[in-house]
Amino acid sequence: MDVQAIPFLDLVSPHRDLEKELNEVFLGAVRSGHFVGGPMLELFENDFALFCGVKHCVAVHSGTDALRFALMAAGVKNGDAVITVPNTFIATTEAISQAGAMPIFVDIDERTFNIDPIKLERWIKTACRIDILSKKAIQRSSGRTVSAIIPVHLFGQMCNMDAILDIAHRYHLAVVEDACQAHGAQYNSRARGQWCKAGSLGTAAAFSFYPGKNLGALGEGGAITTNDEAIARECRMLRDHGQSQKYYHEKEGYNGRLDAIQAGMLAVKLKHLNKWNETRRTHARRYCEKISLCQGVVAPFEPEWSRAVYHLFVVRVKGRDRVQKELADQGIGTGLHYPVPLHLQKAYAHLGYGKGSFPVTESIMGEILSLPMYPQLTEEQVDQVVRRLKAACSA
Ligand SMILES: *Cc1c(COP(=O)(O)O)cnc(C)c1O
Repeated sequence: MDVQAIPFLDLVSPHRDLEKELNEVFLGAVRSGHFVGGPMLELFENDFALFCGVKHCVAVHSGTDALRFALMAAGVKNGDAVITVPNTFIATTEAISQAGAMPIFVDIDERTFNIDPIKLERWIKTACRIDILSKKAIQRSSGRTVSAIIPVHLFGQMCNMDAILDIAHRYHLAVVEDACQAHGAQYNSRARGQWCKAGSLGTAAAFSFYPGKNLGALGEGGAITTNDEAIARECRMLRDHGQSQKYYHEKEGYNGRLDAIQAGMLAVKLKHLNKWNETRRTHARRYCEKISLCQGVVAPFEPEWSRAVYHLFVVRVKGRDRVQKELADQGIGTGLHYPVPLHLQKAYAHLGYGKGSFPVTESIMGEILSLPMYPQLTEEQVDQVVRRLKAACSA
């Protein structure tokens, strides 16, 4: 049996076939001098807005900037509280803090790994009072106004948005989708009677184009999508030192723009995203079929209202650390997303959550294992990963 190493991620081969086009982008910038702003940026913003099915896209320096600007533009104020999950990358909560607010955690659903809308509403009902004037929820213990929620479409699968939007509507919360792992994911909205793309459902949404994401730049990148013209305008100002026109500053902003070269690279790669996502879904189906025959391994769950784009393919296994080590010994790269939930991170000790605060997140923490997942993976490689996984689990 031929045994070949299978890396967790492959950032080289996706660009091999695109070298000529990517070089042209670079030369275009060198020859025109458009390094910041300009036609390549506008082209990409239009293309990505179209891809997501929204009116506006504002490209920025990173997903973290996108989250922060979107929160601020959606009305999150200094001293507010913003709800999200402990089971996400720290950028989600960094953006909340950077917008001047405090993160509040709500536990996830055991099967989808995303926010559980029932726990979300229960938290609001038990921990908050409703302000008579603003009709907003105020956290009793802190006196903070709960002004927004960030549903994180983790691993490329969308949250149950109908339920979340309904709660948000009733409690006057802005909804900023963290779509940093979900470019092209879809949600079948009963409320709207159609399949909707990630980034098109909330007040605004944030995407990351960090190299390993489903759509990755050749460096840093991010974007905000929204149907709200005022929010798009505000984000454009925030990314550009609060300028409404050159040297006229309505407020202090940030240096949060996307390089024109990265925008050009992203426009080239965006043309392949649907195909790449389809291949990820094909790999996921193959993984799931084979894994269903593995004792002690739980495959990811995709509800009927979801079309996930599998940024990551995360299984649950008993004896995870031992299994991961055994796979590593066989040359199979895996990852942990995430080994320590945010509420147990040192950076958030001041929030006062302890062990036991979020039982579902904590129960999956020691069992999750991310297997190799990228479009350039072959069927044989998928089969080989499963064979090794099976062997490791029964050892
Ligand atoms: C990658 C990621 C981010 C941050 O994006 P950057 O571009 O790295 O700033 C935020 N949230 C989630 C869930 C992510 O995976």
